Amino acid sequence: LIQLSVPLNFIGSIYREIRQGLTDIEQLFDLLDARQEVTDRLDAKPLAVGVGSVAFRDVHFAYDPNRPILKGISFDVPAGKTVAIVGPSGAGKSTISRLLFRFYDVQSGAVLVDGQDVRDVTQESLRAAIGMVPQDTVLFNDTIAYNIRYGRPGASEEEVKRAAELAQIGPFIEHLPDGYRALVGERGLKLSGGEKQRVAIARTILKAPPILILDEATSALDTHTEQEIQAALDLVSRDRTTIVIAHRLSTVISADEIIVLKDGVIAERGTHAALLREHGLYASMWDRQREATEAEERLRIARESD
Ligand code: ADP
Ligand code: MG
Repeated sequence: LIQLSVPLNFIGSIYREIRQGLTDIEQLFDLLDARQEVTDRLDAKPLAVGVGSVAFRDVHFAYDPNRPILKGISFDVPAGKTVAIVGPSGAGKSTISRLLFRFYDVQSGAVLVDGQDVRDVTQESLRAAIGMVPQDTVLFNDTIAYNIRYGRPGASEEEVKRAAELAQIGPFIEHLPDGYRALVGERGLKLSGGEKQRVAIARTILKAPPILILDEATSALDTHTEQEIQAALDLVSRDRTTIVIAHRLSTVISADEIIVLKDGVIAERGTHAALLREHGLYASMWDRQREATEAEERLRIARESD
């Protein structure tokens, strides 16, 4: 009897705790959810932003332990330089940007910003230092001004307008009936992919981060829009540490280093000219894309002469 009473008491107290806990069931789910994501270390310090250099050191990463995505990736982006990442779809290019933002933690190796491991600094300070123009921008159901100002909530109206002009979307906004007060997003004006991307660029210009990630999605755009966006991107990345994930090889020619990602490893790396001389994967991607562009061009000329 004595032996039993202890566990029963124990169970009783657990039962009471659970009953109390049930009232906070939502909090419990929040907790479980939060535990899956990365969290700040208790002693995490704000990132000490210096020149804005980025380094990946022998990074291994998998979303699912049975399927490695990155298998020992190392590269440096010195302050103010541009590194381009190319490679087939699914190679892990966007994953690299997610690791830099620390949406996930590496399995081994390290991601460093200005020499500091991203796991040692607060997520807030890390994300404040990095600007991202994603592949697919999602806009808030709010005014277009709000969507741009999100890059720096304290920005004045003039600064918002200036950023929009630099991102080549100023005239478009001015022509909207409600101008900068036009509602966008799912419940407002539907913007095209290129327009949304330029809003994201304006936002990033306003944020003026030392480090920039461009996940280009220009392949679906017409040549004219692509050129406009390219001009805006060139402007925002000038003198900034930039990682550009490039689908169009024409945008990587001037990169300080090009990394060709394939099957989770760096298959080739070097400048555009050096990689062409190697006659490897990059050179064949380049040839294929040039042929496609030329075919497109011939088709356009044929259509125009009809
Ligand atoms: P890329 O940008 O080079 O096209 P990604 O980095 O987006 O490739 O994805 C690399 C691989 O990881 C792909 O096979 C993709 O299906 C997989 N992947 C991406 N995100 C997730 C996720 N959240 N969970 C599981 N697998 C993912
Ligand atoms: Mg991608």
